Amino acid sequence: MATNIKSRIRRDDEVVVIAGRDKGARGKVIRIISADNRVLVSKINMIKRHTRQTPNSAGGIIEKEAPIAISNVQFYCSNCDGGVRLGAKQLEDGRKVRTCRKCGEVLDR
Ligand SMILES: [Zn+2]
Repeated sequence: MATNIKSRIRRDDEVVVIAGRDKGARGKVIRIISADNRVLVSKINMIKRHTRQTPNSAGGIIEKEAPIAISNVQFYCSNCDGGVRLGAKQLEDGRKVRTCRKCGEVLDR
């Protein structure tokens, strides 16, 4: 849902995990899976996958990210040094930017 506040997290945002196995860990959003309300975050929720041997690769175990619920991550504000909720404000030039609700910092450049 576009109006969902959680959907304000975007690709390349730095987020902090607030629940689950990787609680407290930080990573960059690789992909948003909006249909599932899930996100793929670098180095978060790593799973081991066994790959079969093919002519091009030796096969073996590879580690890759698995999606986590978007509600389990919060935007990371470097000013607050932690996960924060996002606000929004309109700049004088009409641009809408995201802000940190805690410190008020504009998070979009
Ligand atoms: Zn902040």
